[in-house]
Amino acid sequence: MTDVRITGGCQCGAVRYALLQEPRNPHICHCRMCQKAFGSYFAPFAEVSRDAFDVTRGTLAIFKSSEPAERGFCRDCGTPLTIYTIGDDGIFIALGSLDRPADVRPQRQFGVEGRMPWFADLPPLPGEKTTEDDVPDLAARIAASNHQHPDHDTETWPPEGTGS
Ligand SMILES: [Zn+2]
Ligand SMILES: [Zn+2]
Repeated sequence: MTDVRITGGCQCGAVRYALLQEPRNPHICHCRMCQKAFGSYFAPFAEVSRDAFDVTRGTLAIFKSSEPAERGFCRDCGTPLTIYTIGDDGIFIALGSLDRPADVRPQRQFGVEGRMPWFADLPPLPGEKTTEDDVPDLAARIAASNHQHPDHDTETWPPEGTGS
């Protein structure tokens, strides 16, 4: 194995993982099953060998979206993390869960029959940044009670003294 180590995990931090090889075949999938599984318009995935997928904290919960397909997610916060087709050598990782998701750029689209008819119209839509800076009270409340795991590995989580 190489010295590649690409980390990620769920929103709450109960499940953390490391990829021990560069992910292959990065793509987005527009199929209806991925839309439902992610509550989103598409799902971003790339593949690593199963023995290069190391769950370093917690365990994946599994929902079998069909007989051969196991979708792995965090039981505590619901973040979708993997899809594994029984019998495959590889497992697909949900790229939004990476600590550095911008590092893996999608190369293809799958399930395009399910693609939203206005998908190409999204980037030109009017945009604005998150409004936290404009709403100081809200920003402070979020900062004081942020339960999202940071985008790096942690020794202990949640931080000691937070009472959970
Ligand atoms: Zn979680
Ligand atoms: Zn799909």
